Amino acid sequence: MKIIMLGAPGAGKGTQAKMISDKYNIPHISTGDIFRANIKEGTELGKKAKTYMDAGALVPDELVVDLVVDRVAKDDCANGYVLDGFPRTIPQAKALDEALAKNGVKIDFAIDVEVPDENIINRMSGRRACVECGATYHIKYAPTKVENVCDRCGNELILRDDDKPETVKKRLDVYHEQTQPLIDYYNEAGILAEVDGTKDMMDVFGDITELLK
Ligand SMILES: [Zn+2]
Repeated sequence: MKIIMLGAPGAGKGTQAKMISDKYNIPHISTGDIFRANIKEGTELGKKAKTYMDAGALVPDELVVDLVVDRVAKDDCANGYVLDGFPRTIPQAKALDEALAKNGVKIDFAIDVEVPDENIINRMSGRRACVECGATYHIKYAPTKVENVCDRCGNELILRDDDKPETVKKRLDVYHEQTQPLIDYYNEAGILAEVDGTKDMMDVFGDITELLK
């Protein structure tokens, strides 16, 4: 079972990818992990990727696709895998399809974890962080014992810039612009599966396992 996870930052797709990986015993693959592993092992692809990363440049699509294709050809992917955070763009998606087609395989499901922007913005704006010890909380889902005071060290909590509504909104705009076309792409390919990501985490997972049956 070869799966691609789609969903906005903050929609919870990483959590769902991890749960799919555990239940079906297939690797959860993120491009970040692939980059790190290749750089650590000093592979040719890893060395190439590192030159871009060291220069603060984006790793080009062809190289990212090469790294992903190389990863999914490994033995532990024989029964499938969950790709998380890749592809991000149509050129990446097409390049991946073409590379897989050479081996006579294709992606089985593109699962889109759908959460309206307002919900994501609300979720994020409820996060609180302790600048002193790094502990993180959520005013609704993981509240502190005393409002705005860190349970661990007693310092005051802040809303990080990354979690502020205007920052989250910008990130979501970029996501929609780049990744929304992928949803259409996989829909046309007949492999798009949409789930309601506003539900409880376990219910979302239940919906996903139904779709994968
Ligand atoms: Zn603290």
